[in-house]
Amino acid sequence: MNDLLEHAKLTEDTSAASDASDASDATQATTLSPSVKQAEKIAYENNKLHKRLCRLTGQAIGDYNMIEDGDKIMVCLSGGKDSYALLDILLTLRERAPINFDIIAVNLDQKQPNFPADILPAYLEKLGVAYHIENQDTYSIVKRVVPEGKTTCALCSRLRRGILYRVATELGATKIALGHHRDDILETFFLNMFFGGKLKGMPPKLQSDDGKQIVIRPLAYVKEADLTRYAEVKEFPIIPCDLCGSQENLQRKQIKGLMREWEKKYPGRVDNIFASLSTAAPSHLMDRNLFDFANLKATGIADADGDIAFDEDPCATSNPTAQNVISLHPAD
Ligand code: SF4
Repeated sequence: MNDLLEHAKLTEDTSAASDASDASDATQATTLSPSVKQAEKIAYENNKLHKRLCRLTGQAIGDYNMIEDGDKIMVCLSGGKDSYALLDILLTLRERAPINFDIIAVNLDQKQPNFPADILPAYLEKLGVAYHIENQDTYSIVKRVVPEGKTTCALCSRLRRGILYRVATELGATKIALGHHRDDILETFFLNMFFGGKLKGMPPKLQSDDGKQIVIRPLAYVKEADLTRYAEVKEFPIIPCDLCGSQENLQRKQIKGLMREWEKKYPGRVDNIFASLSTAAPSHLMDRNLFDFANLKATGIADADGDIAFDEDPCATSNPTAQNVISLHPAD
């Protein structure tokens, strides 16, 4: 799959050259009317956005070896902006990829009231992509089992997951692709830490609960804001996600607010936190299952990655970035 990454990079390089030429074209456009110039500027920005999404997705796919030659990728399509973008970008990358892989889009119609069942088939037919609509009335099950006023998402997600795993097996899919993005990963990380007491995020690639499938998240490096804008640009026929009547998860909303606040007050902090998820140092945490502290002995051999006896207190440094990382509360 590194082939695909290399190809994405090459495409990006070529794109950078074309960006430069686009920019020079834009400079020459000074004689054009303001409305034409504005339209050209918007087209230029949209093109850049598409290239960025393809590059970041290709990079995540390559870094985690998500897609291999001969794979059949089942793309889960909910009707939300993220899954539309995922399908769209994977189709673009497949066209450019030096390897062969199949894509099949799957939507689970959970029989929520007023679900517009014709939208996705019409969209997919127009796109010419293979698809399957799985009809399963999980909505009634959830309404029957979960007491009124309690959140329904946990049971609903569990049911959905089981169905999608089964469908993947029936369709002969080798990977299940989900549309979770960078912000989903960060929010889940903080939710687990703040409310679950666990240092646990949402991995870009994992084995399904039943051990039969590999689940991938090719948008792992992509920011939600970019996906929101891309959905507007592409005019995806979005299906609202509140048809089930479930209330928004307040804890997740709280974390989203916290991240928004950080981004505004301390630009770069969220990027740093995201980077830290892929640079963990088990010997510098406290999980005895990840590092054998009990049998740790002095070897007499210097370790470049070891502790500098007593690590510097980052708060005491004049490095503003370090101070930002330590301060967790938006009001700090
Ligand atoms: S918001 Fe509704 S459809 Fe989505 S997981 Fe929760 S209960 Fe299910």
